[in-house]
Amino acid sequence: MTGRLILATTNAHKVREIAGMFAATGDATQVMSAAALGTPPEIEETADTFAGNAVLKAVGFASWLRGLTGASPDDLCVADDSGICVDALEGAPGVRSARFAGEDATDDANNAAMVEALRAGGLDRSAAHYACVLAVARVDGTPLALASPGPEAPPSLADRRGALLFEGRCEGEVRITRQGQGGFGYDPYFWIDGGARTFADLSDEEKSRRSHRGHALRAMMARWAEFGC
Ligand code: IMP
Repeated sequence: MTGRLILATTNAHKVREIAGMFAATGDATQVMSAAALGTPPEIEETADTFAGNAVLKAVGFASWLRGLTGASPDDLCVADDSGICVDALEGAPGVRSARFAGEDATDDANNAAMVEALRAGGLDRSAAHYACVLAVARVDGTPLALASPGPEAPPSLADRRGALLFEGRCEGEVRITRQGQGGFGYDPYFWIDGGARTFADLSDEEKSRRSHRGHALRAMMARWAEFGC
């Protein structure tokens, strides 16, 4: 492998989680944020699925990187789209997780909107899951294909635009009460282990082991050698 893994995100939590997982396996792949190479484009997340938005981001960042002297054609651009889906809210916030309380909403505002939506339905909790789809695109735009079908079922998408897709999910419960100081986003309200703790109680390492993003990353890393870079 000569290519680097360039993360199509400016979210420092996501960069830390993904870079940390590669480092923990001893994999020599260089993982970096696209922000280290310049000012990344704002990609509008207009798709109505996590897979669709992940492809928009991976392909959009790859095409931006193509024009930069610091990027190589062999580099791989990896984008994640993720969110929380609450059963009692018919899957919301879903793809709108980052902007559930409005464009540019803070984590606190999004959490308050979710708690309010539960309360409005007379509920103090609901089954929920986090979902993450990773899309991988080559910086030179050449379509990626796996050498063989794998055990994992890739997320369905009519047009993946030459990107490869990997999915991860984790089950839990959202409650109107919060706990914990770690994590980000909806983590203080996402209860696991039968209500013993929340995602915000977990160390970075524990969270990677259990999280939707961790599961998606492991699915991608298991196939990394087949990407032909
Ligand atoms: P994205 O950056 O468009 O993928 O939006 C992801 C949004 O989903 C974040 O802003 C959070 O609100 C939520 N989210 C995704 N993953 C996590 C997580 O691991 N913990 C907490 N919230 C998350």
